[in-house]
Amino acid sequence: MFVSSRIASMSESATLAVGAKVAAARAKGRDVVAFAMGEPDFDTPGNIKRAAIDALEKGMTKYAPTPGDKAAREAIAAKLTNENGVATSFDQVTVTVGAKHAIYMALQAIIEPGRGDEVLLPTPAWVSYKPLIELAGARCVEVAGSVERGFRITPAELAAAITPRTVGIVWNSPSNPCGIAYPADEVRALCEVLARHERIAVISDEIYEKLIYPEIDPGLAHVSPGAHPALAARTITVNGMSKSYAMTGWRIGYMAAPKAMATELIKLQGQMTNSIPSFFYPAILEALTNSAAGVEAMRVKFAARARLIHDELATIPGFRTPRPNAAFYAFPDVSAHFGKTSPGGVRIDGAQSFADALLAEADVAVVPGEDFGACARGHIRFSFACSDENIVKGVGRVRAWVAKLA
Ligand code: PMP
Ligand code: GLU
Repeated sequence: MFVSSRIASMSESATLAVGAKVAAARAKGRDVVAFAMGEPDFDTPGNIKRAAIDALEKGMTKYAPTPGDKAAREAIAAKLTNENGVATSFDQVTVTVGAKHAIYMALQAIIEPGRGDEVLLPTPAWVSYKPLIELAGARCVEVAGSVERGFRITPAELAAAITPRTVGIVWNSPSNPCGIAYPADEVRALCEVLARHERIAVISDEIYEKLIYPEIDPGLAHVSPGAHPALAARTITVNGMSKSYAMTGWRIGYMAAPKAMATELIKLQGQMTNSIPSFFYPAILEALTNSAAGVEAMRVKFAARARLIHDELATIPGFRTPRPNAAFYAFPDVSAHFGKTSPGGVRIDGAQSFADALLAEADVAVVPGEDFGACARGHIRFSFACSDENIVKGVGRVRAWVAKLA
């Protein structure tokens, strides 16, 4: 059967591919320590589950309005307005099938295929942005952050990447895979650059917003570009339940856009998926209005793990790891080991072969850096959304394996 070139040429999600390899190895009985998928190891808090179960039992089983039920959209609008300074009314909100679906739709809406559009992507960046930018018909222009600057790009670097063809930027702080959040003043300085270019739409993926560790970098706080007065009318703010509320499998995300854009996005969603399952809406409401203590308890644990994994990785010769201060990722540069041969006889010629050999020979799963951007080719990603015991055991295995590279 014919497959369109835009799908045939698209790369598979590297994060999901490693997740599948872990599942296959475990099915064969192997004791794999997985630093692979970016997914909290915690279960969804009980009050959130109960809200969905009650709704299901009460018969909330019919189609809901395409962008979501009003109460949930009002709660999201209130959250964005009060917590993020992104003034939002409920009719600007669309509840989506995960943040991934929101990003897909936002890109479809801002890009005109065949016009030579360019979308800026500060890198290293999550593996799905570039394929989705390209699928929508634009060229992805990577703006590389350096390890030395903790992966953060500067206003001058951003300004230098803007051309008359730039139609948008995908912004992601806190960042997957960097495990860092930009300081507030740096976000504002980057927003000032974008403010000077009226045609640039901002897609701000804030899915790790709640996972910021001021106990590691004092004063660190989240800033939403949509709160900048000059950007409010051209920012689509994306967020979701997956990470903060340990709800990855529920597939619930959301986005808020200026009213005219929101109407177009809802039109697309109406032709594409319609509403998410209707009995999830009370769970969204419960999460946003009655779960702050549970979220904070998870955040505190992630902060402790960020310190632990950084200290552990620091003991491995040849690993250069900017200190994570947000999300649940550490992203060391391991290129000092490229050109060596593994104990099992594999020539390590890049991050992919490093990760493959590590999984095959030491039963540790990490995501290779290649698909996080050209500047990330020397890196591997550790997700530390796993127990302290796994962190110590897994990094211990990496250390022992690296010591045998020759
Ligand atoms: N954005 C980033 C940066 C992510 O790491 C992920 C991974 N889940 C997503 C969006 C998508 O999240 P979801 O679709 O589960 O809401
Ligand atoms: N975002 C997570 C990750 O990066 C989950 C998998 C995915 O959707 O990419 O591992």
